[in-house]
Amino acid sequence: MATSARYEQRQLLEQLMGRDALRSRNSYNNQYTRQRELNINDPKICKNYLLGVCPYDLFQNTKQLMGNCKKLHIDKFRIQYEADIEEGKGRNFERIELEVLENIINFIELNDYKIKEANENLEADEDKQDEEMRAIIQRETKNLEAAENNVNITLQEIKKLNSLGEIEKSLQLVKDLEEREVKREFFAKNLRQANDNLTQSLQQKLQVCTKCGAYLSRLDSDKRLSDHFLGKIHLNYVKIRGKLQELKAKYGDMY
Ligand SMILES: [Zn+2]
Ligand SMILES: [Zn+2]
Repeated sequence: MATSARYEQRQLLEQLMGRDALRSRNSYNNQYTRQRELNINDPKICKNYLLGVCPYDLFQNTKQLMGNCKKLHIDKFRIQYEADIEEGKGRNFERIELEVLENIINFIELNDYKIKEANENLEADEDKQDEEMRAIIQRETKNLEAAENNVNITLQEIKKLNSLGEIEKSLQLVKDLEEREVKREFFAKNLRQANDNLTQSLQQKLQVCTKCGAYLSRLDSDKRLSDHFLGKIHLNYVKIRGKLQELKAKYGDMY
């Protein structure tokens, strides 16, 4: 009876607070009670965190939030690792570092794949967009040519009527001429706009950041670019890529 009442109570709590809230509270409690029994090599301990490159930790409070790490982040072991490395006891951590190397190789491979896809999408989109803009330019060029033609024909007719002394008919055509000139100006403006759009688009081409995969505009101001390069997400990718290079250099012959 008591067990089932507790079960019901827990279910109610889960509904109220969300299952994850309860679970993470429990895992925090477990983290502290179990810490004493663990050693640094325990599989429950997040090795990425020891080396400062757990993506779950690094991308917290960013747009690339990944949720919670399923392993334990224990600062005591991180400090121990850092201190031992400093003292030149790095050889003790070969297993840990190889595990981290494998993890971040996978992580960076996925990011590189994302960057490659983004580049391909960008090229496809841009080609299509440029094609559409070129079609508009073609259309507006034809419209302008026709409008120009109409103006010239009307001018010639006016000249002819004037030379024949048909002033009244000529004056009527002057009104038509004005309308046709307005049209010509309209299409000329359209064409200028379409040309400007294409030029701008060619200059504004986006590019994909080779470190983090974000879209950057080639026209971005220095301020905006430096905001990106100093942003948390970008810097974290730089950090993980740096660690990857460092570990690859260290264990290169094993890979
Ligand atoms: Zn972690
Ligand atoms: Zn970046």
